[in-house]
Parts: sequence; C-alpha cells; structure tokens
Amino acid sequence: MSDCLFCKISSGEIPADIVYEDDRVIAFRDIHPVAPVHILIVPKTHVATMLELAARPDGSDLASAVLKVIPEIARKMQVDQSGFRLINNCGEEGGQTIPHVHFHLIGGRKLGEKLI
Ligand code: 5GP
Ligand code: ZN
Repeated sequence: MSDCLFCKISSGEIPADIVYEDDRVIAFRDIHPVAPVHILIVPKTHVATMLELAARPDGSDLASAVLKVIPEIARKMQVDQSGFRLINNCGEEGGQTIPHVHFHLIGGRKLGEKLI
C-alpha cells in the first residue's frame, strides 16, 4: 500500500534498523523503544489488523511465518533465555497507531505489571 509506513520500510523506501528479513517477514527496532529490546515484527503483505489477517485465506500462512521467526529474533536479541513479551495492539481502543499488522517483541529488562 503506497502510503503505509510499514510497507515503505518493507520495500526499503524508508530506512529502519532491520534485525531480521526474509521474503515474507521483516523485523526492525521500534523508533521509540520502551525497553532495551523492542522489535517490530511485520508481515510484508499489507494487512491492516490482526482481525483482517485472520480473515484472509492466506492469514494462517502469514501468521505462521511471523511465529516461526520469533525464536531466531529472540536468540539474536539475546532474550531467548531471559524471556520477553509479545504484543499485538489491534484497532483504536487496542492502541494500534500504524494500520499495518505487527507484533512488538519487548525485553532486555524485567518487565512491569502484567495486564492480565
Ligand atoms: P502500534 O502503536 O501501532 O502498536 O505500534 C506502532 C509502533 O511503531 C510504535 O511503537 C512506534 O514507536 C513505532 N514507529 C512509528 N513510526 C516509526 C518509524 O518511522 N520507524 C520505526 N522503526 N518505528 C516506528
Ligand atoms: Zn502496509
């Protein structure tokens, strides 16, 4: 999608600090990190939200592609042993600000109170 920030990062049009990339997924450091490790994991295909991802015929494949790279990214960021948190903000009340589905991998310090 032409005016989508994460599509532009995926295509290389806008630079980012990329920590992982394959043909379907890109992962890069969040520009406003909330912890020493704060990585955004993004399917390259433009899909607005987690709900839209789940509704697509190829949604399971795209979600699976994201899931499968998490261990490698966690190892690379050295949080595979210590642990980390994975977050998807979905929609306005979920706190989603960029309408291209993505997952926050956060760690590198003892994280605060759980939401649930
Ligand atoms: P959301 O609020 O949609 O779940 O997460 C969007 C995230 O994208 C935010 O944590 C924000 O800091 C990050 N972000 C916004 N603009 C940029 C950018 O230009 N580059 C990078 N690397 N991250 C960005
Ligand atoms: Zn997009």
